[in-house]
Amino acid sequence: MRKKLVAANWKLNGSPEFVDSMMFELAKVKCDTVDCAVFPPFVFIPQVKSALPAGWQLGAQNVSLYEQGAFTGEVAADMVVACGGSLALVGHSERRSLFAETDAEVAKKVAVALKSGMDVVLCVGESLAERNSDETMAVIQRQLEAGFSLVSPEDVSRVCVAYEPVWAIGTGVTATPEQAQEVHHNIRALLRVLQPGAESAVRIIYGGSVKAANVSDLFVMPDIDGALVGGASLDAKEFSAICEAA
Ligand code: PEP
Repeated sequence: MRKKLVAANWKLNGSPEFVDSMMFELAKVKCDTVDCAVFPPFVFIPQVKSALPAGWQLGAQNVSLYEQGAFTGEVAADMVVACGGSLALVGHSERRSLFAETDAEVAKKVAVALKSGMDVVLCVGESLAERNSDETMAVIQRQLEAGFSLVSPEDVSRVCVAYEPVWAIGTGVTATPEQAQEVHHNIRALLRVLQPGAESAVRIIYGGSVKAANVSDLFVMPDIDGALVGGASLDAKEFSAICEAA
């Protein structure tokens, strides 16, 4: 049985005061049977770490391709680990579309994060145009194959796949539970081809306008192992309710 993972992606939001009040609220969440995680902006990682409720995981929204050197503005995976991070979000659609991150770069980031000791949440998902032209699974297959291309067989289960249809991110339009379940089911079939056994070991979480009001219907689906939450994770009550629904 895969344990559910519910993760908050704060994106480019937050302040020291926000971190303090969020940590105070998240400490009240009853999530013994669920893995809960927070992805704050890099600079807040130490502050979150110092107040993180027991059992919660902390991660970075991105890591550098590079391990060290003359790469101004970059943050290395090892640096995140040194500040208490244990998870890396890699290949988010905003990184792919706004910062032109390629499949090859995503593959290297997955590898560098795993090498540093972090587990990875690898984001995949199709745009609306790709869905409308029946390319959903072709796009996801390409992103998955690239994302796992530098992962050794013993590390495959350290990668969690986040299915995030681009048309559902930050739009208020959630994939229906049936639409999400269909893609998650197909992702499991792709994982089986990648490595027999991966289909049952790897968690596949859903992201895209998840809210307390729609999450229960998603979580009853057999192949949905949790949620990656953007906008709703900035509201402590809303995010706590999503964690508790898992
Ligand atoms: C995300 O950015 O990963 C996300 C799922 O955002 P939202 O929940 O706001 O759609």
